[in-house]
This record gives sequence, C-alpha cells and structure tokens, in this order.
Amino acid sequence: MKKEEIIKRINDLKKEKDAIILAHYYVNSDIQEIADYLGDSYKLAMDASKTNAKIIVFAGVHFMGETAKIMSPEKKVLMPDMNAGCRMADMINENLLKKYKDEHPNTKVISYVNTTAKVKALSDCCCTSSNALKIIKYYTDQNYDILYCPDQNLGKYAMEKFGKEFDVWNGFCPMHHLINVNNLKELMKNNPNAKLIAHPECTKEVVKMASFVGSTKQLLDFTKNDDSKEYIVATEEGIIHQMQKQNPNKKFIVAGSTLYCPNMKKNTLEKILDVLEKENNEIILDDDLMKNAKKSLDEMFRITNL
Ligand code: 13P
Ligand code: SF4
Repeated sequence: MKKEEIIKRINDLKKEKDAIILAHYYVNSDIQEIADYLGDSYKLAMDASKTNAKIIVFAGVHFMGETAKIMSPEKKVLMPDMNAGCRMADMINENLLKKYKDEHPNTKVISYVNTTAKVKALSDCCCTSSNALKIIKYYTDQNYDILYCPDQNLGKYAMEKFGKEFDVWNGFCPMHHLINVNNLKELMKNNPNAKLIAHPECTKEVVKMASFVGSTKQLLDFTKNDDSKEYIVATEEGIIHQMQKQNPNKKFIVAGSTLYCPNMKKNTLEKILDVLEKENNEIILDDDLMKNAKKSLDEMFRITNL
C-alpha cells in the first residue's frame, strides 16, 4: 500500500473506532505528522489521562504505553510494536528494587517514568526529565534519604545541582550515555556558532559543556525562544524533525551517531494501521498493579503542580 493510502486508512479507522494516536518526539517523522498528540513523556502521560477516546495507539516504547494505561485504565491502549522496549527501563526490575527497599526501609524511592509498572508500584513518586529536579528537591528539602532510579546521569546531575548526596541506581540510556565526547568537541570546534543543548540523560561531561539542559520538550522550546541560529542537539535525533519544522531558518546538528533509539524506530505507519485494524498488542495490567503504580504517578503530578 502507498504511504498516502496507509494514512487515509489510519484516519478512517481512527474516526470509526474513536481512536487517537499519541507519539513521542523520538519516533519517525511520518508518525509525528499524523499524531493527534505529540510530546515528551510528561506531556503524553497527561494527554493519556485527559482523552475521551476509546482507543489510544501509543507510538513510543512499552513503558509509555503502560503509563497511558495506568492513567486511563478504562481505555484500550495498543502498541504498534510490543517489542519496542526501553534499554534504560530494563536496567532495573521489581525484584532488585524490592531487595533495595528491604535493605533501606526508610528511603523514599523516586523512579524515572522510564520504568515498568511493577517498578512504579514500588516507588513513592515518579518523575520525568521535565520535572525530575523539582521532585528530587521536594524530597531532599525535607531531608528524606532518597533513591533515584534508574538513570544515574540524571541522578548525578541533580546531586550536583543541589549539592546533596543520595543513592542513585546505575542505569543509563545507551543512546545518551555513549555520546563520544571527543567527537562532540570536534563537532563544536567545526561549528563554532552552534550552541550545544543536551538532555539530562547525557553524561556529566556532556551536560557540563551544554548551554542548556532539559527534557525533549524543554529543548524544543529553547530552540524556539533562543536567538541562536545553530544548535548541536544532544538527544535522540527524532526531535530534530520538530525543531526544524518550528524553526525553518535555523540549523540543527545531531550531537553524535549513538543518538538513535532503535526501539522508538520500531514504530511504523504500517504497524499503526495493523493494530488499529486488529486491535491487538493491547497493554493489559492487573488492577491492583495499576492502582499502586498510579499512586506514584499521581504524586508526581501533585508535586509538579505545587
Ligand atoms: P523525555 O522525558 O524528555 O520525553 O525523555 C524520555 C526518554 O528518554 C524517552 O526515551
Ligand atoms: Fe529508553 Fe533511551 Fe530509547 Fe528513551 S532513548 S526509550 S531512554 S533507550
């Protein structure tokens, strides 16, 4: 089928079945173009909680589909590809976290949204890259012992920012973590007018070199409001599509060859059409699990809105 036909069929099925498509900025640009809601992980979690549609097709990775289901348990949440996981989320699981909690019974657990529902259910609060600093500060200001999991880079970034010590899991996103710093320095030398902007999942070295650090949405907003004409972007390359679209006269350069998430790219228009037709690949979660995981997400929304 031609791309136009696939898109037409997707749009017809969306109407017929009362479905919407949520897409993360890291998916392919053709999906970003047909999405009803496009955003970073925080915005998409909120969008999922507000929609009245019966079916949510989540073009993202598995933990995002789970989050949408937890926020909207009465809806059918479908994943274009059930194998689109997250390498960082795989670096922690409920058994390891349970063991940590047994050994540290008074420690508050703050979990990045890039975790399974089972890990969220064991956590006191969730966060995303857009509100992690606020959430961590909220707990450290009250002198709680905390564990930040699973992203060591964001955790260490917050520790340094607040001059506080706390436990940090040793997980990371390989795409952001493995940016080659020497190559990046070379890129900056060759593009002296370009500002480096970075996601906090990058290592300390990269974050220190950056003019601005933020979630994907915050990076996008920065490029709109800032007056520079060129940027080196240290996050997954999918975001460049929106940056370029919203700033047609600016130049964007990806900060390195690792910044390509193969799981995000498992989403395709063909697979979206297929799940809409078959209504398969549904996220199914146990009710108690959803209830417990939702507490940590609700706590995130509460603190974010303080
Ligand atoms: P955002 O919270 O900026 O969406 O990033 C999360 C992420 O890494 C998605 O892969
Ligand atoms: Fe996970 Fe990294 Fe891919 Fe985001 S970019 S989904 S953190 S592996």
